[in-house]
Amino acid sequence: MALLLEDLSHVYMPGTPFETKALEGVNLKVATGEMVAIIGPTGSGKSTLVQHLNGLLKPTSGRIQVDDLDLSQARSEQFRALRQKVGLVFQFPEEQLFEETVFMDIAFGPRNLGLPEEKIASRVRWAMEAVGLNYKELHQRSPFHLSGGQMRRVAIAGVLAMHPQILILDEPTAGLDPQSRDSLLRQIRFLWKKLSLTVLLVTHHLSEVAVQADRIIVMHQGRIILDGKPGAVFQEVDILRDIGLGVPLVSAILSGLREKGWPLPANLVSVEEAAYQIAKIYRQNRSKAGLDRGVMSC
Ligand code: ADP
Ligand code: MG
Repeated sequence: MALLLEDLSHVYMPGTPFETKALEGVNLKVATGEMVAIIGPTGSGKSTLVQHLNGLLKPTSGRIQVDDLDLSQARSEQFRALRQKVGLVFQFPEEQLFEETVFMDIAFGPRNLGLPEEKIASRVRWAMEAVGLNYKELHQRSPFHLSGGQMRRVAIAGVLAMHPQILILDEPTAGLDPQSRDSLLRQIRFLWKKLSLTVLLVTHHLSEVAVQADRIIVMHQGRIILDGKPGAVFQEVDILRDIGLGVPLVSAILSGLREKGWPLPANLVSVEEAAYQIAKIYRQNRSKAGLDRGVMSC
């Protein structure tokens, strides 16, 4: 088990007029090597949740365990090890770039670990290549002169250079154009497999998580309200619409057809799979020469 949350609650500014209950009774288990997407409307507690996982925020109540470490019992050197093990990429992480060159920015974390210079250099080169940045071309450039997508990748490389086992990305594709978004997501999925990472991906782009993650967690008002495989979660069209998330277009179409009696299998998420199944049922019914006509009345 990589992560275990038991009855986790978090209240910001308790006892003041600004008191906000951001998390309430959250229970979650994430197995080592899983890739989990966390979705939910703005303010549902996604960022608050992930900031607990590397000890940045402390629970108001409840328990957090990362591998074998119970965070409420952890000593300060164990927290240092935790921050290295759990790599957290914040929302808009490029806002935190600050060094003169791409190299120095990515080297910042490994340098703080006290690694020798040649180890630092090899980690920087590796991390840049891992996120699809050309080392030779870019390592001496100022991060502030790169494109938005490249800056985001530099920030992610800085976290990867710490060699985390658990990688948490808080809305890594927010504000990127569709092309950089797709390519960044493909890269994250590739790294997850190649490095056997446990990945938590916070996002509000539903159709992208539908095909990226093995499991989706939906948050609403500080609670987890759905948790399951993408096909099963996106079948909950009414719940998702009620909380203002909507569903991917393909899920809306499948749901409409199911209501009309089309025997579509569960767990369909990609457009290709859905089109294949729809065409198959259509052909089967057409060849039944008019039998079961009702199924086709859409
Ligand atoms: P999400 O990431 O899903 O948008 P957040 O975890 O940022 O949600 O926020 C959950 C709730 O906590 C919201 O009501 C938000 O206004 C509040 N909140 C978040 N961060 C703070 C903070 N630093 N101080 C006070 N309230 C906060
Ligand atoms: Mg957030």
